[in-house]
Amino acid sequence: ELAQLDVLFETDSTNAEALRHPAPARGSRAWLAERQTAGRGRRGRDWATPLAAQVALSLSRRFDGGIAALQGLSLAVGVAAAEALHGLGCTEVGLKWPNDLLARGRKLGGILVELRGDAAGPLQVVVGLGVNVSLPASADAEISQPWCDLASLMPAPPSRQAVCVALLDALLPLMARYERDGLAPWLDGWRRFDLLAGHPVRLLEGAHVIDGVALGVDADGALRLRTETGERLCHAGEASLRAA
Ligand code: ATP
Repeated sequence: ELAQLDVLFETDSTNAEALRHPAPARGSRAWLAERQTAGRGRRGRDWATPLAAQVALSLSRRFDGGIAALQGLSLAVGVAAAEALHGLGCTEVGLKWPNDLLARGRKLGGILVELRGDAAGPLQVVVGLGVNVSLPASADAEISQPWCDLASLMPAPPSRQAVCVALLDALLPLMARYERDGLAPWLDGWRRFDLLAGHPVRLLEGAHVIDGVALGVDADGALRLRTETGERLCHAGEASLRAA
């Protein structure tokens, strides 16, 4: 399943690196970086990856399931990553729709799914995951919201190697299963880790603000929101969610 693994000392972004290469004919190709100089989040946001502080991982794969089926992939990846971190003893980790790993209300990691291809050819999907293992306090200057790392959550945090192995073990089988079965196998897991279900939230979509109560996700991974005017479904594309 793992076609090739490249460990880089420094790169702009492991997702960008993965997208510069074609997806392997079979299985996944993976990249790890000790440091990213231009790590990225959604919509051009920056993702800070100080040297040797994080597991910054990207997996690249052919995807034959069609673009429409990909909406839930970052949720499935979140569930698998949260389970892997639980397995390492980090029991406080939870998920914030659509793509954040949180603990104690602070961001522990993030997921970025990117695609390349056209309607005619096969799609390449790149799944990027950054998990903070032990960040220097100076990372504050680079990160615009409360963050945390495994070192601050656990008395005896696992090594980056252990985190990396656990994440690869969880994510390598996920891609093939997702292609076959979609989000369904991860929906129970999502419910277990969903930090905002039942809570008042504010959804930001560009200049648009929607207040409501988060009700979990539908079968495709869209957020169900109860608002004054009834229940509505929100798609991850442009949206950011905040506890209200
Ligand atoms: P949000 O997470 O605010 O809902 P988003 O999902 O669009 O929005 P992401 O793309 O997941 O955000 O992540 C980018 C944001 O994550 C940055 O704007 C920054 O605030 C924060 N961030 C950047 N680097 C780190 C890091 N190493 N650890 C935790 N948070 C980080």
